[in-house]
Amino acid sequence: MTYNLLINGKLVAGDATMDVINPATEDVLAACPRASKAQLDEAVAAAKAAFPGWAATPIEERKKAIAAIADVIEANANDLARLLTQEQGKPLADATGEVYGTAAFFRYFTSLDMPVKVIEDSDAKRVEAHRKPLGVIGAIVPWNFPLILMAFKVPPALLSGNTVVLKPAPTTPLTALKLGELVKDILPAGVLNIITDANDLGAELTAHPDVQKISFTGSTATGAKVMAGAAATLKRITLELGGNDAGIVLDDVDPKTTAPQLFQSAFQNNGQVCIAMKRLYVHESIYDKMCDELAELARNAIVGDGLKQGTQLGPLQNRMQFDKVMETIEDAKKTGNVIAGGSRAEQKGYFIQPTIVRDIEDGTRLVDEEQFGPVLPIIKFSDEDDAVARANASPYGLGGSVWSSNADRAYAVADKMNSGTIWVNKHAELAPNIPFGGSKNSGLGTELGEEGLEEFTQLKIINMAR
Ligand code: NAD
Repeated sequence: MTYNLLINGKLVAGDATMDVINPATEDVLAACPRASKAQLDEAVAAAKAAFPGWAATPIEERKKAIAAIADVIEANANDLARLLTQEQGKPLADATGEVYGTAAFFRYFTSLDMPVKVIEDSDAKRVEAHRKPLGVIGAIVPWNFPLILMAFKVPPALLSGNTVVLKPAPTTPLTALKLGELVKDILPAGVLNIITDANDLGAELTAHPDVQKISFTGSTATGAKVMAGAAATLKRITLELGGNDAGIVLDDVDPKTTAPQLFQSAFQNNGQVCIAMKRLYVHESIYDKMCDELAELARNAIVGDGLKQGTQLGPLQNRMQFDKVMETIEDAKKTGNVIAGGSRAEQKGYFIQPTIVRDIEDGTRLVDEEQFGPVLPIIKFSDEDDAVARANASPYGLGGSVWSSNADRAYAVADKMNSGTIWVNKHAELAPNIPFGGSKNSGLGTELGEEGLEEFTQLKIINMAR
């Protein structure tokens, strides 16, 4: 299988190549093109040249192209899902869900429009608000959900008349490149360009004078670099960054029936989810029982190669993340009690046994930092307001959840939690029509929904005297 960049409507080799590793086997999965700075410049130039034509294309035509991309993703779902499992590690069923989700996100945006809003229409004046495309969008994506996170950016960017240079993460570039091959003939040349790098072109894209906006998903540390890098050209930015979502479980919850949902919220995609539940506060009256239930689920979870039938948790996506999570677990052992997992799995690949740590407190790395892996700290609380205060004390503010059998009690707690999204009796549910964005160090701006679409536009007012 050969992979190519997509620049100006053509599939081209990279000026260099790099190896992509299958995290389940640690073997080389494919040689992947690595774009040079000159190729990045070509991609931006192609997107810039394609912009006026695409912006002038009627929105109904743009919608048709976006719907055709959704169709082609679905038509190739099996191949894409298999490739996604091989490069990312997630179980095939999850990969398949991500592929169909990606198609659904593309399709959702074809249901939106950008109507002119009349702000005032009086004897004195008529004032209209228009939404205009920005130009070339740089879309930068991480390695945990290579396809669906791209679908937060590319369809709204295209729908609103922008052109795009997409850059996937260096360890998961193959599905994006495969997508480039599939959509090459759907879009006019230069409207969507896909380049890959070894972590060296994101900064170049961010600083590029011909790029009008960076839509970035990744870590908070890199997000800060994007913000700094965008300053010189006053670029628009949307930043979807890290999180340390708290779940607060009130005393009226049944541990047995709730534990499986909590487990899924924390361990889905091996905890490599920006909105995974990353610390769990449980009321003291049900603490022991909940710890036992979660530990049991962790011990019984089937860890293995995502291509193997029945696998629930695959490997960590890359070596660096594997080492980071193992270090966090070792550190947690100093103050907490590990009641499930706690070590790497006995097989080749970046596998870690799902790990539950109890009797741990705020002020430790595992509780305070974003672990981004299959390890969950469970913290005991006695007072609801104290649990909320601890949940809110984090510099992150992406998501959070409250769990209770009483909707009014849950709502009152949800209202006090400071994050971009608070779920009640569920966690980490995203849908294309629901706006999503972080508070504090978890991000800037919004993706998805109508608000997410607007972020790819410039507001333009036409104010006419009568
Ligand atoms: P990362 O920040 O290391 O990399 C993300 C992307 O940025 C990659 O494509 C990378 O090549 C690129 N990049 C690297 N240096 C850059 C620079 N100087 N300028 C511009 N781009 C640069 O993140 P990661 O390790 O791939 O992903 C994990 C992180 O992403 C976690 O913190 C996670 O919470 C976060 N994340 C957030 C969301 C969200 O929607 N809020 C979703 C998924 C992941």
